[in-house]
Amino acid sequence: PTGNITVLGLGAMGSAVAARLRATGYATTVWNRTAAKTQPHTAAGSNAAATVPDAVDAGDIVIVVLLDHRSVREHLEPAADRLRGKVVVNLTTTTPGEARATAAWAADHGIAYLDGAVMAVPSMIGTPEARLLYSGDENAYAIAEPALAALGGAEYSGADAGLASLKDTALLAAMDLMLLGQLQAVAMMRTVGVPAAETAGEAEAWLAAMLPHGKEIAAIIDGGAYDTGGQSVDFDRRGLASIVTASREQGVSAQLLEPHLRLLDELSATGRGASDWPRIIDRLTIPKQES
Ligand code: NDP
Repeated sequence: PTGNITVLGLGAMGSAVAARLRATGYATTVWNRTAAKTQPHTAAGSNAAATVPDAVDAGDIVIVVLLDHRSVREHLEPAADRLRGKVVVNLTTTTPGEARATAAWAADHGIAYLDGAVMAVPSMIGTPEARLLYSGDENAYAIAEPALAALGGAEYSGADAGLASLKDTALLAAMDLMLLGQLQAVAMMRTVGVPAAETAGEAEAWLAAMLPHGKEIAAIIDGGAYDTGGQSVDFDRRGLASIVTASREQGVSAQLLEPHLRLLDELSATGRGASDWPRIIDRLTIPKQES
């Protein structure tokens, strides 16, 4: 491949990215706040730059893998003039709002900005199992795509720079609640001496059997009528109340389950107890403040 790529940040993820680009044949220039971390990379054939502006000058594409939004802005802002006309791909984990703010800043400075979200751990970089989401400047994606394809499965989500982070955090939210649910099961079964591993095994099979229902729930939500006659809000309330009581009987806190029950109670109290239970999504959407 042709082109020079700069990698800012050589933590676990930045190092994996730089190594993979190098292995693919790109000329790479690296920078890291703690300069010692550039040593293995220069030994393997990368150039090291002493400052961010020098690193930026060396690359057509600048890949940023720092800690957070703040560290990204701290180091990109002083180099704004040197970044003009370049493609910046920010793989640092940020929120959708932070991604949009950096995209607006980049647009003000004539920088083609792509925001990325890495759905992989460093050891997966360069394998098809790594999924990397991108959003922002479409032209920047077209330019960077061949290099980004070397890092794993690359997906462009759209021109709104916040989309990649949004999808990443939405899927992480799904994972978080699912694994917390499994923890609740483990806590309940441990009260009678069942090891966590045993409950985790049972939960894995049970959750795998239940996951396909997610699409049926989605169809109800997309239909928008909540009148399919499937499990209702009131039916679900009774079921969940039993789970909450069972937990407490065993001396296990139900604090993870209580917010779910509260949402169902609110729906029932406003006369929607007979609706399909996925109507709960209405309670999750916070109305935008009138301005
Ligand atoms: P590390 O903790 O391994 O590395 C952090 C990097 O950020 C180092 O290069 C560090 O420099 C640099 N850094 C931190 N603060 C500053 C600062 N104020 N100014 C300049 N540089 C700074 O983290 P990772 O490499 O694992 O993560 C990097 C990004 O990748 C994060 O946003 C993370 O969320 C994301 N990511 C990581 C994944 C993972 O599994 N590791 C998975 C998906 C995303 P120094 O060496 O000088 O401390």
